[in-house]
Amino acid sequence: MNTGHQPRKPELLAPAGNLEKCRLAFLYGADAVYAGGKEYNLRSYAGNLDTEELAEACALAHLLGKKLYITVNAFARESDLKALPAFLQYLLDLRVDGIIVSDPGVLALARRWTPDMPLHLSTQANTTNSLSVQFWKNQGVGRINLARELTFDELAAIRRTTEIELELFVHGAMCISYSGRCLLSAFLNNRSANRGLCTQPCRWSYSLVEEKRPGEYFPVREDSRGSYIFNSKDLCLLDHLGKLMALGIHAFKIEGRMKGALYLASVIRTYRQAIDRYWDAPETFQVDPGWREDLARVSHRPYTEGLLFSKSSAACQGVETTVSYVQSHTLAGIVRPAPQSRREASLFPANDGRDWTTIEVRSRLVPGMELHFLGKDGSTATHLLGDFQSISGDPLTVAHPNTWIRIPLSFGTFPHQVIRTPR
Ligand code: SF4
Repeated sequence: MNTGHQPRKPELLAPAGNLEKCRLAFLYGADAVYAGGKEYNLRSYAGNLDTEELAEACALAHLLGKKLYITVNAFARESDLKALPAFLQYLLDLRVDGIIVSDPGVLALARRWTPDMPLHLSTQANTTNSLSVQFWKNQGVGRINLARELTFDELAAIRRTTEIELELFVHGAMCISYSGRCLLSAFLNNRSANRGLCTQPCRWSYSLVEEKRPGEYFPVREDSRGSYIFNSKDLCLLDHLGKLMALGIHAFKIEGRMKGALYLASVIRTYRQAIDRYWDAPETFQVDPGWREDLARVSHRPYTEGLLFSKSSAACQGVETTVSYVQSHTLAGIVRPAPQSRREASLFPANDGRDWTTIEVRSRLVPGMELHFLGKDGSTATHLLGDFQSISGDPLTVAHPNTWIRIPLSFGTFPHQVIRTPR
């Protein structure tokens, strides 16, 4: 397809719900991360970064030659407006690489108070056509995250009309409504999705109640386990990355600021490998079966290509699934740096000649369990857990979550490396 655009290597943009996730995202290959401050973003439960952590994340990004974007994408209320200029000024002083906005009022404030700040438009703005793209461009927006409801042909048509940076979600959970414009959670739980407080009631099981028969719940059968009439599958566009890269999409975005370390490491390294491999040799590019395995081993709903390549919204619905996620593996732990300080060193026994690796445990571990150490390059080293010790050298037969242990390994590891184990 001739779009009139030179293929460009897209930026891999990953979520960072906190500082540790920010480190992990960069470690596993993200070119940029998006994170929220404690205020004004749409993931109030995602942890988010306080002002010091934002500064640290920004310094880390720039040290690595990467980028940090800050989400300021809540739909602001009158009470939010007063403090917003100071927050925007703080972000400008930090030299973050852009802010992600949805609300035209927030956008107008940003233009007035921080005119040099690059502005990205959130998917919450539901940009679905080229005239909307032009409108937002005229408002000073430099990048637009297009609505997930678009088809590929619509995406290509928009691409042909503009040079503006276009960004697209390629992986992660989807709303069943127009990208978060949804009142379910606000009605049922008094927690508004547009304030970052969604409790995901679209994933709950529903029945039908006839007005005159209160208390009688009629199943709306979709399968024997229940009816998940609003339930969306998770987006996965791995198979279509080549087509999207040829189109000239500027950034591929991964959803999931509330997701954990295993999700981040697995998904980011998969898309990193895929983007690099396609970029180096588009003619011979093929999706590696190992990438699919990685994606299958994180907690997820059945995957869908979303509406981009399907004419039927039913293809996105998880109606044949239970409300729970598919989860074959879980986070076993994270490799931690060896102790540095004298006090720390005094806690550790002398090395007895074996190569010990320190691990922060995240799941209960016992001998005989298989541990997979996820490499940055897509490789995975497996270790069958044998003997292991507390960090002060006492032999252990069980390790509990949130404790630190050390184990002997026959291969190298690196700090913050993610370890998974079959459930
Ligand atoms: S309830 Fe579901 S569709 Fe609505 S905002 Fe939350 S996740 Fe999205």
